[in-house]
Amino acid sequence: MTLSSTKPRPLIAGNWKMNGLAAALDEARAVVADLEIQPAAARVAIFPPATLLSRLSEAVGGSAVLTGAQDCHGKPNGAHTGDISAGMIADAGGSLVICGHSERRTDHGESSEQVARKAEAAIAAGLEPIVCVGETLETREAGDAVAFVVAQVRESLPPSVAGKAFCVAYEPLWAIGTGRTASVDNIIEMHAAIRAELAAIFGEQGKAVPILYGGSVKPENAGEILAAAEVGGALVGGASLKAVDFLAIIRAV
Ligand code: PEP
Repeated sequence: MTLSSTKPRPLIAGNWKMNGLAAALDEARAVVADLEIQPAAARVAIFPPATLLSRLSEAVGGSAVLTGAQDCHGKPNGAHTGDISAGMIADAGGSLVICGHSERRTDHGESSEQVARKAEAAIAAGLEPIVCVGETLETREAGDAVAFVVAQVRESLPPSVAGKAFCVAYEPLWAIGTGRTASVDNIIEMHAAIRAELAAIFGEQGKAVPILYGGSVKPENAGEILAAAEVGGALVGGASLKAVDFLAIIRAV
C-alpha cells in the first residue's frame, strides 16, 4: 500500500489556551484584516478560551478565519459543572474543537478513551475535532516515542470519525511552550508513523487526514516545519496570541 497522501489545504490553528480578555479580539480582527488583503494558502482557525468563543465568532464572522474551542465534554448535556458540550461550541459559532491537548491529558488526567468520547461528541455535533497526541521527554529518551504515539492515535480516534473531517496534531510534550522544537527528522519520522496508522485504520481517507505539528512553532521555524513530509499544518500556542506572529506563520505555508 502506498502511503503518500493527496495533500489537503493545510490548517494553521491558534490555541490561545487560558489567555485573552475582550481586548484580545483586536488581534483576531487584525488577522482577518490582513487575510482580506491577501488570502491565505492555509485554512486558519483560532481557539480562544471558552469565554470568548461567541464574541470571537461574531468578530470574525463571514471571514476566512474559523473558530473553535479548546476542549469539550464527551456527553451532549447533563450535570457536569464547568464543562461545555460540543453542541454548545457549535451554538457559539465554533466549527472545530481540540480534543486531548496534552495540557488536558496532564492537568485533568484525560485518558485516550475519554479523548475518543470527546471526538465522538464533536462529530455528533458537526464539529471537526483536532485530536492531539504526543510523548513525554522520558518516553522519547526511552526510545518508545513512536510506539507510544501510534497507540495514542489508535485509542483516541473513535470509529465515527470515518468519513468525516478531522485532524490529528502531533505535539511532543517537551516542545510545548518550552521554546524547544522537535527536529525536522523527528517530525518526519513521527508523522510518517502516524500516517501509516491512519491509513491502516481509515484506508484512503487516512492517507489525506491533516497531521498538524505543534510545539513552539514560531515565525522563525514555521517554514521549515510546514515544508516537512506529511506535515499538514500547525497547532500554535504562544505565537498565536499576537497577530503579527500568527500571520507570519500563516504566510509560511
Ligand atoms: C499548543 O498550545 O498546542 C502549543 C503547541 O503551544 P506552543 O506553540 O506555545 O508550544
